[in-house]
Amino acid sequence: MEVDVMKKVPVKEQDPKVRATNFEEVCLGYTAEEAKCEASRCINCKNAQCMKGCPVSINIPGFVEQVKNDDFEAAYKIISESSALPAVCGRVCPQESQCEGKCIRGIKGEAISIGKLERFVADWARENGIKPEKTAAPNGKKVAVIGSGPAGLTCAGDLAKLGYDVTIFEALHKAGGVLVYGIPEFRLPKDAVVAKEIENVKALGVKIETDVVIGKSTTVDQLMEDEGFDAVFIGSGAGLPKFMGIPGENSNGVFSANEYLTRSNLMKAFNEDSNTPIMRGKKVAVVGGGNVAMDAARTALRLGAEVHIVYRRSEAELPARVEEVHHAKEEGVIFDLLTNPTQILADENGWVKGIECIRMELGEPDASGRRRPVEVAGSEFVIDVDTVIMSLGTSPNPLISSTTKGLEINGRKCIVASEDLGKTSKDGVYAGGDAVTGAATVILAMGAGKAGAKGIHEYLSNK
Ligand SMILES: Cc1cc2nc3c(=O)[nH]c(=O)nc-3n(C[C@H](O)[C@H](O)[C@H](O)COP(=O)(O)OP(=O)(O)OC[C@H]3O[C@@H](n4cnc5c(N)ncnc54)[C@H](O)[C@@H]3O)c2cc1C
Repeated sequence: MEVDVMKKVPVKEQDPKVRATNFEEVCLGYTAEEAKCEASRCINCKNAQCMKGCPVSINIPGFVEQVKNDDFEAAYKIISESSALPAVCGRVCPQESQCEGKCIRGIKGEAISIGKLERFVADWARENGIKPEKTAAPNGKKVAVIGSGPAGLTCAGDLAKLGYDVTIFEALHKAGGVLVYGIPEFRLPKDAVVAKEIENVKALGVKIETDVVIGKSTTVDQLMEDEGFDAVFIGSGAGLPKFMGIPGENSNGVFSANEYLTRSNLMKAFNEDSNTPIMRGKKVAVVGGGNVAMDAARTALRLGAEVHIVYRRSEAELPARVEEVHHAKEEGVIFDLLTNPTQILADENGWVKGIECIRMELGEPDASGRRRPVEVAGSEFVIDVDTVIMSLGTSPNPLISSTTKGLEINGRKCIVASEDLGKTSKDGVYAGGDAVTGAATVILAMGAGKAGAKGIHEYLSNK
């Protein structure tokens, strides 16, 4: 295979017309040959900038070098020193603004496809039965982790490797957090990828108890005072959806993106034989322009609808990853940009029949640095839809903070915790991920899980 050093080795994808009708994975990943060719583009910089862009500091030049050498097992061992979820990160991390964004190759040509190489190595290891190794003997100390998303899984895995007896408590019936209930199957296969990486964390000795809602079934204080846990890590995410507060928003056929995606991903409502129904709208409006909006739109499309993204700024300000916008467009999602909903219209039985919008134009930059959208007077119009999915962001659920004595939260209802160690205002309680930052990314949550594990290890070693 001939390699153009300035360009990424292209990765195969399902044809857009075909994939718009199924839930199978869009990106098909590299073959071993393609991975080695891509790895051969790496110039192995002495002062590797790519590592500085990775929130969990994976030794990127080290693992890429091993791919080049055809030693995929060595490459996997290097990655798994720093990451418990490489097959997940290789698929969903925003590499373009992290490791690949800093790649020196990217200055004159295209950056090395670090994400696709990570995915290749993790998939190869899974297919060949290679697992991460437990490193320390049990130390007799018990840690509770709340939430089984990337923050909780990473914290639990790191602590188990250090010899702690770790139990994760998860509110839902399945472990994985947003990886199982939010991100759709066609971007992140659940059984083939997520479940297998969770099995690897369990293989380190981590126990996972599902259907336990901390704040209801038991509390953080009870875990520490009555159940013998020496420390607690809170990685409960930011699962509470926001709404616009416009008229008609509680009509039948209005969903939060979280509910819509949970029904489809976790409850498999897209399967004909699922007993969790989902509304198969004929014409769907998704309000918002982030990754979650793209996921909801592409899910509705696969369920047979004509789908409109309604977003109040222009394409340049869309917060979703460029790759996600590109995929959504290829599949046929319609983008109604510079458009803001003003009310949802319902029929006499309360079912959605349309969404009234107003055209916007961009004014001066606001506090976020993005140009502020301003309404164009008299430009109201209606899009006929039977389903509206609100995708306007989420915040942490206050259940844990309101049931834990002495746990400080900020004005956005996020738990206050230090960035380096995840230390909260309560002795022995650490926190990280979306519960602390508000909705962010998988790799930042993993970085926070690592910091929490370090904080707990320091705390319990000195106690
Ligand atoms: C649809 C969607 C698509 C996304 N796409 C991407 C992407 O492509 N790339 C990317 O990097 N990021 C993406 N994100 C963001 C990313 O998934 C999150 O930032 C990340 O999952 C946060 O991890 P976490 O561990 O902090 O929380 P979560 O993943 O939210 O996990 C928290 C867990 O805690 C559990 N929990 C909550 N309260 C309690 C309680 N009281 N008791 C017990 N358990 C509790 C929840 O059920 C959940 O399982 C996406 C998010 C969504 C919603």
